[in-house]
Amino acid sequence: MAIKTKISPQESQEVKKLLDGCKNVVVLTHYSPDGDAIGSSLAMWEYLKKKGKNATVIVPNYFPDFLKWMNGADAIVQFEKQKSLSYNLLNMADLVCVLDLGEASRLGDELGRVVKGLKRTKKLVIDHHIGPDKSLGNVVVSYPDSSSTCELLFRTFTAIGADNIITKSAAEDLYAGMYTDTGGFAYNSNDPDVFSIIAELLRKGIDKDRIVRNINNNFTAERFRLIGYVLYEKLMVFPDTHSSIYSLTADELGRFKYLKGDMEGVVNMPLQIRGHRLSISLREDMEKPVIWVSIRSYDDVSAKDMAERFFNGGGHFNAAGGHLENCSMEKAIEIAKSAIEAFREQLTK
Ligand code: 5GP
Ligand code: MN
Repeated sequence: MAIKTKISPQESQEVKKLLDGCKNVVVLTHYSPDGDAIGSSLAMWEYLKKKGKNATVIVPNYFPDFLKWMNGADAIVQFEKQKSLSYNLLNMADLVCVLDLGEASRLGDELGRVVKGLKRTKKLVIDHHIGPDKSLGNVVVSYPDSSSTCELLFRTFTAIGADNIITKSAAEDLYAGMYTDTGGFAYNSNDPDVFSIIAELLRKGIDKDRIVRNINNNFTAERFRLIGYVLYEKLMVFPDTHSSIYSLTADELGRFKYLKGDMEGVVNMPLQIRGHRLSISLREDMEKPVIWVSIRSYDDVSAKDMAERFFNGGGHFNAAGGHLENCSMEKAIEIAKSAIEAFREQLTK
């Protein structure tokens, strides 16, 4: 059965023109990239390579360990570690593809400014976040009802007639992004097209069981114990508001040899408590005086509103994040508690 492209004929013409007309391309994704960010970037990279373009993926701050198995992962440039190479690549690029983010700040301060400042370079944004900054790209493909940017990228490839050149490893990348952004198809994935797309990816020869094993069963022993510590010692549960908060200081993370990405997905775990509607994670940065906030919610409790109002952030309706600068952990916990109070009505109805 044909998969609806979603993307309008005019939009697909514009995308095709940008992708056909470029020679040197930089593919960018968001700060602290997740499976969808890396999956979509590498799938786009493979497509561009197949088309004979010079393409490089640049990630803002780090590459997550649990995705190192992906084809092309070792060719990814890290902006914060490889600044001069990154600047050279960006200056040479005639096209920048921006994937899985809708506002420049999500690239990090410096990279965000650089990308905004590239006036002559064409920019293509493909993203599924609510309310993207339309000025970020010459063409902005934005469908917030998509499960993931990977889903949207598959639809984009279909719309421009390029689905036949998706390689097996690009199909693996797309599956990984769709899988991780939906919590293993546990949420945001009621659209039957999601499963039609998976069928197409399977026809490309992917082994989804192996991909899932690569993603999930990839913990260090320390990460495994860190999760145990969070759940046993650090989780504050508030039964009356069906919510919880946990916090981790840099010292605590250090004790478990914390590596960036180790806490990925842990914020979802408290939602396994019966009736739970909200989980807030507060994690101190290992280097900077910043506390990173992750919020997950169920039903009509808006994680996005909470992130915007209390934590200088944003995101999706039920999955959002933000940060608190120069804030003690005690204060951050107080702020999180007051956020819960402010949402008491939605949490208890
Ligand atoms: P996470 O909790 O996994 O870091 O982020 C969850 C979602 O919230 C992601 O889709 C991410 O794009 C979004 N998000 C996280 N931090 C921020 C932020 O500071 N600003 C905005 N606008 N979105 C964020
Ligand atoms: Mn995403």
